[in-house]
Amino acid sequence: MTQHIIIDKIKVPFVNGQTIMQAANAANIYIPHLCHNPKLEPRSSCKICTIKLNNRYVSACDTPAVSKGVIENNTEELINNRLRLLQMLFVEGNHICPACERSGSCQLQAIAYYYKMLAPQFTHFYPKNKVDASHPDFIIDFNRCILCGLCVRASIKLDQKHVFALSGRGQNMQLIVNSKSGKLSDSDFSKDDQAAKICPVGAILPKHKGYEVPVGQRIYDQKLIDIVGDDQ
Ligand code: SF4
Repeated sequence: MTQHIIIDKIKVPFVNGQTIMQAANAANIYIPHLCHNPKLEPRSSCKICTIKLNNRYVSACDTPAVSKGVIENNTEELINNRLRLLQMLFVEGNHICPACERSGSCQLQAIAYYYKMLAPQFTHFYPKNKVDASHPDFIIDFNRCILCGLCVRASIKLDQKHVFALSGRGQNMQLIVNSKSGKLSDSDFSKDDQAAKICPVGAILPKHKGYEVPVGQRIYDQKLIDIVGDDQ
């Protein structure tokens, strides 16, 4: 007998071992997320995918689907919680969209547009972190890192390397590069790494490709993220 969960009153089938996010994706139901990628183990750090399962808050990316579980996803309360998280992410980093090469292909911006967020609600931190332009092919702007950990996990699991790590806790957490100098050029990083392509925002950027796709013709300029997902 097929098992199912209910997401916002829609019956969604699942198989044992699937997470709520996997079952929702298979049924073309969008649960917003930033630190999740289907090729990698979930980490549940961004909390954007927080839903309610049987009236309790859980992360959709790492919570197994349970038979007849009743899930709220698109409620006013959950959307407001996500908006608050998005607004905090925007002011914590240097996410000045018109000045960012990822504008139109950035998932943070795309989810903000999906929820019709127009202006920041909190005071900007204006971080003054370093920019690492030492590598011939890639640049890292640490001011735009949202600490999702995707590059860390991709480097380990998909590239069999350990180029990136997250160091510290809470407000002191930061992305670091695994090399003696701390610079990308001295690490094992290569332009063909999966970790080079997985950043959901404009923190890890290829050089020599600025504005290759004109603004206005990029993936999320064309369609909302619930339609195209995060496959870029
Ligand atoms: Fe995530 Fe990008 Fe920061 Fe890596 S550099 S942790 S992929 S935001």
